[in-house]
Amino acid sequence: MSRRKELLSLMSIDVSWMRDELSSNFNQINIDELKLMAVNCHKCELSKTRNKVVFGKGSTNAKTMIIGEAPGKDEDSSGEPFVGRAGKLLTEILFSMNLTRENVYITNTVKCRPPENRNPNSNEISSCSNYLDQQINLISPNVIILLGKVAAERLMNTSEPMSSLRGKLHYYKHTDIPMLVFYHPAYLLRSPGEKSKVWEDILFMKEHINVS
Ligand code: URA
Repeated sequence: MSRRKELLSLMSIDVSWMRDELSSNFNQINIDELKLMAVNCHKCELSKTRNKVVFGKGSTNAKTMIIGEAPGKDEDSSGEPFVGRAGKLLTEILFSMNLTRENVYITNTVKCRPPENRNPNSNEISSCSNYLDQQINLISPNVIILLGKVAAERLMNTSEPMSSLRGKLHYYKHTDIPMLVFYHPAYLLRSPGEKSKVWEDILFMKEHINVS
């Protein structure tokens, strides 16, 4: 079934009479349609315990895209990414890069809260992977910042430790879109001694990438 037909059927519209579209352009969905699909998604167990799907927020013309791990309690009840304590720290980190939440696009590796804030498992990450890939294609950012190990592993298919992923330029799939790995703000809140490292990450970004 084409993406557009899948979307319409999610909205309980009868698609049985429709022909499959031949043109791939016609199948290209927009960000609001993708959000609607995510909001109605039941591909994994997280859909049973979530309150709200946390799809993403910010400018759809953003040059900088931020990808975190998964919604927490505050995000699950508000439906917006990074609104809790880690979110406040993220806003400060953005500020020191001369960015605001309004001119970046923020999302997560998985769109629903894992119970007790555990890490999302591989099945949950792969159930959500199409949403994230399509968000990246539709936003088409100039740079992607990966917050923490879960996002880094998902986007780079690596199990290397954070210490060897930070401070390097990586590239998204087979594109020339640079990706940087930063410590996750929740980790920095748990380990305040490491906070200075995020300033190193910001300096590295400023040296190598024009984000304005
Ligand atoms: N941590 C994340 O990775 N994402 C959020 O949205 C909130 C906390």
